[in-house]
Amino acid sequence: MPTIPSPADSARHAVGCIQPVLLRGRVDHIDGATGELLHRYTTVHEPGGVLPVACKTRRASRCPPCAEVYSADTYQLIRAGLTGGKGIPDIVATHPCVFTTLTAPSFGPVHLCREKDGRLLRCRPRRRAQTCPHGRRMSCPDRHARDDTRLGEPLCPDCYDYTGSVLFNACAPELWRRFTITLRRTLARRAGMTNKALAAQLRVSYAKVAEYQRRGVVHFHAIIRLDGPAGPTTAPPAWATVDFLTAAIAQAANAVQLQTPAAAGLPARTLTWGSEHDARPITTAGELTDTRVAAYVAKYATKAAECTGTLDRRITPADQLAELPVREHVRRLIAACLRLGNLPGLEDLRLAAWAHMLGFRGHFSTKSRRYSTTFIALRAERAQHQRETATMDSLWPTPDDDTTLVFAHWRFAGRGHTPTTPSSEASARPGIPSPGPTEGDQP
Ligand SMILES: [Zn+2]
Ligand SMILES: [Zn+2]
Ligand SMILES: [Zn+2]
Repeated sequence: MPTIPSPADSARHAVGCIQPVLLRGRVDHIDGATGELLHRYTTVHEPGGVLPVACKTRRASRCPPCAEVYSADTYQLIRAGLTGGKGIPDIVATHPCVFTTLTAPSFGPVHLCREKDGRLLRCRPRRRAQTCPHGRRMSCPDRHARDDTRLGEPLCPDCYDYTGSVLFNACAPELWRRFTITLRRTLARRAGMTNKALAAQLRVSYAKVAEYQRRGVVHFHAIIRLDGPAGPTTAPPAWATVDFLTAAIAQAANAVQLQTPAAAGLPARTLTWGSEHDARPITTAGELTDTRVAAYVAKYATKAAECTGTLDRRITPADQLAELPVREHVRRLIAACLRLGNLPGLEDLRLAAWAHMLGFRGHFSTKSRRYSTTFIALRAERAQHQRETATMDSLWPTPDDDTTLVFAHWRFAGRGHTPTTPSSEASARPGIPSPGPTEGDQP
């Protein structure tokens, strides 16, 4: 029985991956009618006896090549929801659709990069600035460029509300969930309908992405679209305009709130969105185009908290807080997570486990069911393409008909590169340590 060179030649794209998953096993093609073994692929003949498969992480800090693929898929997925394509009808482009940003409230003044007409403005010029109880003036006359290391640093770290900041991060996903519910109810009320009557005419679809601000708090960018009752294939009623949607978003964002759990020495707090939320229509031409929005979301989809200068891994009991290679502001945020994580009453927020994420434990990008196509569909399309290419190269046999049965037996054999993996990365960087679990990721 000849060995087919590589079934998972479709897995050859793991070549670019810097932390591939190593699999050991085989794939058998069996004739369903006769039971004859048509082809067998086994990893025995692969270098090191294992098959490297791409890690498929979305995080650029962990594997840039795989994050690139994820980013490209995100772009396709977001764009299809705006203009159609990938199985989404083109008519979706005519549906009311806005790009909205929901920010966190202030937890104390921080250094800011402020620009107007391409010119840098002063950070916080205050002629009669107050002095805080720690003797620090609450003003800053400097002009901070975008790469200034002071951006996001509090004017007074001792006044800054670190507790509020990490509680907000921990509760932000729930605040978003309540926002989506409130938005549907607000739309119904503004239309003079019951929620049920609205749902029979209108469906709200969205895709959102979380972004860490320099001050270490998350905010959300979201595409929100109105469809007819069956999703993108059906038109919403004529009265459901962009203005109607924009007004409802503002009302819902102002109305939504949640109470944090009370803990010993820490009374419950009411969390809301910051006052600076906006919603702008997405158009095919002009400032906020579909391609721009899709590129923007795709960019943030591959980033996480590390952009604020925190750690890209969980914090363990062995870590000395004072020795972590992080900014002082981030160290205080992590300290707040560890401190609050121990308080009875706050267990559900799991702040200690998510201290490296500054309290946020949600998904970085989420979408409603009918927003667009799915990552699974996009990956299947790519895999199909790779199979077809491989078939042409006669590397991967085409099952003649659907009576061919395919049995795969795979076992996890480790992570990283085998010394002989055909990758320049591998030869240049042998023994790359395997990273921790990719928590917070979603497919
Ligand atoms: Zn990878
Ligand atoms: Zn400043
Ligand atoms: Zn102070």
